[in-house]
Amino acid sequence: MHEMSLMESVREIVEQTASQHGARRVTAVRLQIGALATVEPEALRFCFDVVMQDGVAAGARLEIETVPGSGWCWDCGEAVAIAEGGAGCPGCGGYRLEVTGGGDMRVKDIDLGPEQESSTCA
Ligand SMILES: [Zn+2]
Repeated sequence: MHEMSLMESVREIVEQTASQHGARRVTAVRLQIGALATVEPEALRFCFDVVMQDGVAAGARLEIETVPGSGWCWDCGEAVAIAEGGAGCPGCGGYRLEVTGGGDMRVKDIDLGPEQESSTCA
């Protein structure tokens, strides 16, 4: 499953961040998912529980934020919003679009245990 391998890399980021801060617990993980990323939030939630179960983030809250898609239309010669994967340019209806944002998933930030400050993961 695609989401499972994504979540494995999220776990690595979470565990690295926790150990850098000397934290033993992670209470929440916030992910940003681009509207154009081929990721199912429900599948991610399922994978999160499975992948995190024995680690520092066991029982942590998963928050998912959706980021709108954006791109460059070669026909209009300008930046445009892209509603979803496979959608055309809102200006000209064309498909000569290059995705510039919202095409991937990343860890936005991680809340460490109660005795630690929350940390932003660049
Ligand atoms: Zn266009």
